[in-house]
Amino acid sequence: MVDIYWLDKTLRILTMTQAKLLENLKSYCGDKFSFSTAKNYFWSPKDLTVYYQEDDLSEVGLWTLLHEVCHGLLQHKTYESDFELVLLEVGAWERAEKLVTDFGLKIDQDHVQDCLDSYRDWQYKRSLCPRCDLGGIQIDQKTYKCLFCGDTWNVSAARFCRPYRRKALK
Ligand SMILES: [Zn+2]
Ligand SMILES: [Zn+2]
Repeated sequence: MVDIYWLDKTLRILTMTQAKLLENLKSYCGDKFSFSTAKNYFWSPKDLTVYYQEDDLSEVGLWTLLHEVCHGLLQHKTYESDFELVLLEVGAWERAEKLVTDFGLKIDQDHVQDCLDSYRDWQYKRSLCPRCDLGGIQIDQKTYKCLFCGDTWNVSAARFCRPYRRKALK
């Protein structure tokens, strides 16, 4: 038996293109922020602009675009700690999950978990004390401190760059 609702959703997903989604998103977001093309997908709180890869035909591209728009809708700015960045990521995906149904799309939750895992791994590795290999606490944007040996170490202030397409698409 074929579920008509499911079929309808699938067809809508297959017919959704970046151009169509952009059109929908632009009317949804109004003049809150603008959209511009770039080599990567990202939200710039400074320019109030969502940057996206032009002519990206992949489904992951659509999800990523939605995700970046959600950073904008949630008015995400800079973050004080690595952990806070992970929370912003979780927030943007949760918001995207609510937003997609309006556009007849479905985000693969495995993809979301992969993205969040890569942020969590990154945060975990930065937090490890070089001497004891135990997780320390972050005391400012660039410094962690080990509660066990008291050592401090610096981490780069560069924003975590999510490897877009970490895995080959199934
Ligand atoms: Zn994000
Ligand atoms: Zn230590």
